[in-house]
Amino acid sequence: MLIQVRYDEISLKGGRRNYYESMLVQNLVHQTGIPLERVRRVRGRIRLVLSESDDPETVWDGIRRTFGVVDAAEVREVPVDLDEAARVGIDMARESYARGSRSFKVETKRRDKTYPMTSLQVSLDVGEKIGAAVPELDVDVHTPDVVIRVEVERNSIFVWGSSRPAPRGLPTGTSGRGLVLLSGGIDSPVAAWLMLKRGMELDAVHFHAPPGTGPKAKAKVATLARLLSRWTPRHVRLYYVKTSEIQDAIATGAPERLRIVLLRRSFYRIAFQLAAWKRLRALIGGEALGQVASQTPENLRCTQAAVPLALCLHPLIAYDKIEITRLAEKIGTYETSIQPHLDCCSLFAPKGPETAARLEDVEEAEASLDLGPMELVAAESREAVAYLRGEEVPIKR
Ligand code: ATP
Ligand code: MG
Repeated sequence: MLIQVRYDEISLKGGRRNYYESMLVQNLVHQTGIPLERVRRVRGRIRLVLSESDDPETVWDGIRRTFGVVDAAEVREVPVDLDEAARVGIDMARESYARGSRSFKVETKRRDKTYPMTSLQVSLDVGEKIGAAVPELDVDVHTPDVVIRVEVERNSIFVWGSSRPAPRGLPTGTSGRGLVLLSGGIDSPVAAWLMLKRGMELDAVHFHAPPGTGPKAKAKVATLARLLSRWTPRHVRLYYVKTSEIQDAIATGAPERLRIVLLRRSFYRIAFQLAAWKRLRALIGGEALGQVASQTPENLRCTQAAVPLALCLHPLIAYDKIEITRLAEKIGTYETSIQPHLDCCSLFAPKGPETAARLEDVEEAEASLDLGPMELVAAESREAVAYLRGEEVPIKR
């Protein structure tokens, strides 16, 4: 069995194209388990040669989780002979009819420009043969139920029917590494996924505050990190950082309405410290503008100002809850995210939180708390776990 993978965005990368393609190939090898010797790279396409012992469903699932891939299809390779191509096309048309298709068209690409017929002539020829053999399928060149694709190369013709969609994006590993602030909620795993989709490798940090938050909250975040790790061939490390002392200090020493903003600033400072130690270039959060009190422009500015040198990315900033929820369902984190748990922030949140904090007020309130040493201790006493493609693995320090 031969599976052909298509990609598009990275073919635009000019001089860096080879780098992106190599990364995509390497990621496909890890995600599908097909060894490099059985991966064929041809211009603009990658073909995976499956052996008897490979489980096609595992391979399909791996492809579906490989960023950079646009779609993939099972292709058949035949000699350069249109009768042979039509024979395969007829089989595919019949299968497609059995699955409910009622119309088809043939689309051809000539990769071998010396081939004597034009693409249109090839399509007409093969289409006619399929039409004659499967008369119950109509030809429809505008909105066919199935497109039979034919690609003529120098030594072979490749034919395929329906293809399966893949996630698009850029190959993981081509956009550096980041640290996602992973809560147990719906948003931050989706933010993480969107950055993975743009080629960024990720580690995650979760803040917890026992005894207010229990082991359940930690387990939930572990599940989310594990689920995310299925979308990348690289390790995803999850750091647990305990912020109980910091929260106590804020709760007893600062105006109640500023609590959330102050805690967010602590989170980001600790995350920035970890990112520096681990050489991670960006901090990623699940903030969406206006979603809750802490996510107004004024409050977001107060958070950003705590780490002026950090690159803070909020890929969900312009998304609404419905869009985010749909994505969470698609990537498989929604069911976990909606499990009830005690979040350190929900316990801590005041009844009337500030929606437009002034940076001067925040800095003044913070000045007397001396959070710096507590943040350093918290960061240093982190616990860590690592996940690789959906499994927990021993952590490398
Ligand atoms: P989420 O659904 O991701 O929890 P949210 O809408 O509940 O987001 P907030 O609670 O205001 O939003 O948090 C905003 C962002 O701050 C989160 O998306 C996450 O990136 C980060 N964050 C919040 N709480 C934690 C936590 N306990 N540990 C790590 N990051 C957190
Ligand atoms: Mg939250």
